[in-house]
Amino acid sequence: MEEFVQCNVCGKEVKKENGFMKEDFLEVTKEWGYFSNKDIELHSFQICEDCYDKWIATFAIPIKKKKVTEVV
Ligand SMILES: [Zn+2]
Repeated sequence: MEEFVQCNVCGKEVKKENGFMKEDFLEVTKEWGYFSNKDIELHSFQICEDCYDKWIATFAIPIKKKKVTEVV
């Protein structure tokens, strides 16, 4: 069975091979609570690395970065 993840921003497909993604991507899942205007909705989306880079470039405050020495 071929599985893939589709970037919500550009629509690019990232294919899964043997359970592993061929490219890395950002996966966001957010359960909006009672104090939001969304009334306990679960939102989720995926963003490919290209779109992620473009997205964070628009942030007023840069993201936190830290080198990870051990990749699990
Ligand atoms: Zn994308």
